[in-house]
Amino acid sequence: MDIVFNCTNKTCAQELAVDEAGAGTEIECPTCGETLTVPEPTPENTIEAEAPPAKVPGSTKAASGKISVLPKKEKSFSVPVHTGPGEVLIKKPKPTLEVAAKEIDKKIRLKTIRHSECQEVGKDKFDETVTDFLQRIGQENIVGVHSVSYSHFDVTTRQVLSDFGLMIMFRG
Ligand SMILES: [Zn+2]
Repeated sequence: MDIVFNCTNKTCAQELAVDEAGAGTEIECPTCGETLTVPEPTPENTIEAEAPPAKVPGSTKAASGKISVLPKKEKSFSVPVHTGPGEVLIKKPKPTLEVAAKEIDKKIRLKTIRHSECQEVGKDKFDETVTDFLQRIGQENIVGVHSVSYSHFDVTTRQVLSDFGLMIMFRG
């Protein structure tokens, strides 16, 4: 039987297995050098010595001469083991999501205002039309304003004229 216990040095906590014959003797932790007293064997801290863990040569003063360092990974049994599905440790703050949802509710739309469509009996109402439109959608909803040039057939002059306009991208 081996007595299994942990190094009392908190920063080390190396798991050690010592033959039960070494109970009560002082040993040096092979990992950190801390002087440890091997505890008395109890049903809780003993394991069958079959398949002994790797021995660390010359690392003990104990009379039994047998001290083993268990692989570090075996310490995992002292740590709560989660067998269920992974837990979400960091939850995203909800307010941010709600704000984002509101923004998504508004679709990106496109409005094209052509200069030639803003003429009224010799009066150029292009600037006025654009100003009115921008006022209506509100400054915070304007995504972008791009100028466009285009050709159109003018019925009055019966000519193909090139003209300009604005493409306004906005949320609404
Ligand atoms: Zn130690």
